[in-house]
Amino acid sequence: MIIKTQEYQWLEELQCRLALTKLEEKEIFIQRVGFEGELEAFKLISEYKQHDWQLLSGLRFTQGMSEIQVDLLLITQVGWVMFEVKNYDSNYHYRDGKWLVNGLPKTRDDFAQLNRTLAILKNVHQRIGASGELSGKLLFINESDTVEIEGAEPALFIKRAKLKDFMRRLGEDCLNYLDNTHQIAVEANWLNAHSEPDLHLRSLTDERYDKMRKGIYCCRCASFHIQFERYHICCESCGAVEAAEKAILRTICGYGILFPYKHLNTREVYSVFGGQVQYRRVKKILNKYFQRNASQAGFINPVKNFEYQFGHVKFHYNDHL
Ligand SMILES: [Zn+2]
Repeated sequence: MIIKTQEYQWLEELQCRLALTKLEEKEIFIQRVGFEGELEAFKLISEYKQHDWQLLSGLRFTQGMSEIQVDLLLITQVGWVMFEVKNYDSNYHYRDGKWLVNGLPKTRDDFAQLNRTLAILKNVHQRIGASGELSGKLLFINESDTVEIEGAEPALFIKRAKLKDFMRRLGEDCLNYLDNTHQIAVEANWLNAHSEPDLHLRSLTDERYDKMRKGIYCCRCASFHIQFERYHICCESCGAVEAAEKAILRTICGYGILFPYKHLNTREVYSVFGGQVQYRRVKKILNKYFQRNASQAGFINPVKNFEYQFGHVKFHYNDHL
């Protein structure tokens, strides 16, 4: 499963409550395009892969001061294939070490980045004692096919149109190997267990929190014009009806995303509702859905939006969206 980065979740939550800066608007656009590209790549590779291969996403490792994030890693009988997904729809042109985007120089070299990531992943590969080879590719996933590459090692990149064929050939290569499904699963479990947390989480300043709009916004249209009933909230702008408990929980999760380094303290969480919900009720919902923090006051902040943390929960009162 592809999960939005905390930065993306943070920008999305903030956008509902406060005007983003010009820079943040750019950032949320980049995050959205990147996320959509990874979703698409994950979907296609999952479709083309053999059932005993494992496809992992969002792995993160550090080595000294260097830090890498692996978009997608496919574990097969013949080894690991890492994909760095690029969702480009402008005109990219690479020739002998230089990139141009719509005719202008691009400072970051994607191939250099790929090699850096591969070098660190190689150490992880050795640390596990993984059996097969390790390779990596830039995957240009956008359907518009506007990337032109000259003079690069062909093994280091792949375009969307060639992905299916590549996966088929990978499957053929695997035919010569003994069944090592168990080994593949062991490696995948190890990688998931040892993937490191993101240490650069975005957090809101108190000053911006004060300026930020408080209260519950509509889950469909993000309007703050909502009518509170006992068990439901109704949006006066679009007519969506949502279970009140769910809306409160969703708002608490949003607060947790904005302040990833804070525990969920009842009084602080209460403030995000701007007086719309009784203190008692906020406390009750925190108790019901969140784990108490053993050493400090408050509850453990999952730093995940509602969909990721509670998307599976069934509520007694249904939404009418
Ligand atoms: Zn609405």
